[in-house]
Amino acid sequence: MKSKYAWDDGFFHVTEIFDSIDGEGKRTGLMAVFVRLAGCNLRCSYCDTAYSLTLDDTKEALTEEEVLRRIHGYPWKRITLTGGEPMLHPLHHLCQVLGEEGYDINIETNGAVPLWRERPEGVFYTMDFKCTGSGMKAHMNRDNFKLLEPQDVLKFVVSSEEDMDEMKEIISHYFSGVRHPAFFVSPVWGRIEPEKLVEYVRKNRLQDVRVQVQLHKIIWDPDRRGV
Ligand code: SF4
Repeated sequence: MKSKYAWDDGFFHVTEIFDSIDGEGKRTGLMAVFVRLAGCNLRCSYCDTAYSLTLDDTKEALTEEEVLRRIHGYPWKRITLTGGEPMLHPLHHLCQVLGEEGYDINIETNGAVPLWRERPEGVFYTMDFKCTGSGMKAHMNRDNFKLLEPQDVLKFVVSSEEDMDEMKEIISHYFSGVRHPAFFVSPVWGRIEPEKLVEYVRKNRLQDVRVQVQLHKIIWDPDRRGV
């Protein structure tokens, strides 16, 4: 049976499974197994995974055992669960099993679905905050900020100075003087020069914000899939 954004038929609806380097975030450059799941509840203006936004983008419907078998086929002990929006899928038990097996599990989530209050061992979040340029800012779930821990990443993808002002405001309003996740800021590819982000961070003395570019878009063609 199909709900609006996620399947509830007991299968994982997978767009692709592959291994590559993590192109961004705290594991940048390290090899991981990527599991990309179909379906997303947002429609960001700059989305680069338009091939994984609806359930019709499913390429394979796999059981949990089949997903695990595919993951076990790779030598890497790092997993990146991505989409689409992976948290719309019933991931908790899968993550529990992977955590018990010693995997380091990165869940890339869009900031518009609730994070787990109790996360399985080995899980960290790379959570987006969608600024105005995405067109999706109104959907951000700010209650999630309280559940982010120092091992997590809060990522701002920005396309303008207005977006960067929002990032600054979020960090100072919600995270001043408290234990906080790592902050990353990335440019929307082709819309703003990375240099502008560095200038902004310097001018505003943002001590803990790391500027990044998506490494996979530099190494390969920016539109290439499965890398
Ligand atoms: S949340 Fe991610 S996958 Fe969903 S529309 Fe936005 S960029 Fe695309």
